[in-house]
Amino acid sequence: MAEVLVLAEHTGAGEVKKVTCELLTAARRLGTPSVVWTGPGAGAGQARLAEFGAEKVYVADSGEFAQFPVAPAAELLARLVADKSPAAVLVAGTTEGKEIAGRLAVKTGSGVLTDATGVTAGPDGAPVAEQPNFGGAITVHSVVRAGTPVIAVRPNAVSAEPAPGPAVLEPVSFAASDAAKAAKVTEHVTAARGSRPDLTEAQIVVSGGRGTGSEDGFKIIEKLADALGAAVGASRAVTDAGWYPHAFQVGQTGKTVSPQLYIAVGISGAIQHRAGMQTSKTILAINKDPEAPIFEIADYGIVGDLFTVLPQLLDEIDKKKAL
Ligand SMILES: Cc1cc2nc3c(=O)[nH]c(=O)nc-3n(C[C@H](O)[C@H](O)[C@H](O)COP(=O)(O)OP(=O)(O)OC[C@H]3O[C@@H](n4cnc5c(N)ncnc54)[C@H](O)[C@@H]3O)c2cc1C
Repeated sequence: MAEVLVLAEHTGAGEVKKVTCELLTAARRLGTPSVVWTGPGAGAGQARLAEFGAEKVYVADSGEFAQFPVAPAAELLARLVADKSPAAVLVAGTTEGKEIAGRLAVKTGSGVLTDATGVTAGPDGAPVAEQPNFGGAITVHSVVRAGTPVIAVRPNAVSAEPAPGPAVLEPVSFAASDAAKAAKVTEHVTAARGSRPDLTEAQIVVSGGRGTGSEDGFKIIEKLADALGAAVGASRAVTDAGWYPHAFQVGQTGKTVSPQLYIAVGISGAIQHRAGMQTSKTILAINKDPEAPIFEIADYGIVGDLFTVLPQLLDEIDKKKAL
């Protein structure tokens, strides 16, 4: 089976990010996945990579990846593409991942597909990427006609499914060129975050929409999220109104989430919002309009005023916790 390179996203301390497991799952549909690991921590991450079917792990344990953003990773991948002739290269569709994908495509003279929500093998075995267009109203299936397909897959678009693999570590010596060192990271500032889980990694997401009425009204969404140990999300109507920061927007132009439980409160369910949450395992919608489109994709629905429903829900959660 053809080798497929997967660029690992990790914390540097060996913690493999969920999106890497999703990429490995997608890569297995195309061939045999080999991970490309930049920087330290591969030994600690090896077991997780094995759980999701990695055959090999090419480890370039160099401090340059932390010091110089994006360009060294693209150089390393370009070298591996030349050495290994893989069937495709998959990267996470994050801001950084997409930049690496673009640079790699230029370096290797290949086609690049971004914002893929799925990848399959076509009738001739070549990778076919699924991409939502026009706000998710149309799904296109795209293939790359030149070079080695470089595909950036959206986090949370593919469900990570385990399948054991050996994940054999193979050291790769690497030194970035002077050109790749033109931009240097001078400082790392960790964004202040409360105790809530990360929106794209959370098991439960509670999202609020325009139905919350105001910045003050939106606070009840945070209250429910905290009662459930969930992350907070918001519709674009909310973030555009300045009731909640844009970083928490769920949807086509925001984050894609796929939690075990997604609670949509006062959200109509516009196609652009659905594009970012419809793969959630269970969807609960709370809306006062029984005709709201969100109910079409909800597993459970409550028709009612959120300012009546949510306090009752919070009371019940309190009672359960007190037991
Ligand atoms: C190119 C493009 C990209 C976009 N990207 C995104 C995106 O990434 N994410 C996104 O969310 N949107 C996006 N949008 C906007 C999207 O089309 C919708 O306008 C938006 O999702 C609507 O947000 P909403 O559901 O909060 O508001 P509305 O559509 O106004 O819905 C509010 C809902 O709240 C209900 N409600 C009102 N009061 C209460 C109450 N007291 N109790 C219970 N229910 C109540 C109403 O019945 C209604 O269903 C995009 C649009 C475009 C054109």
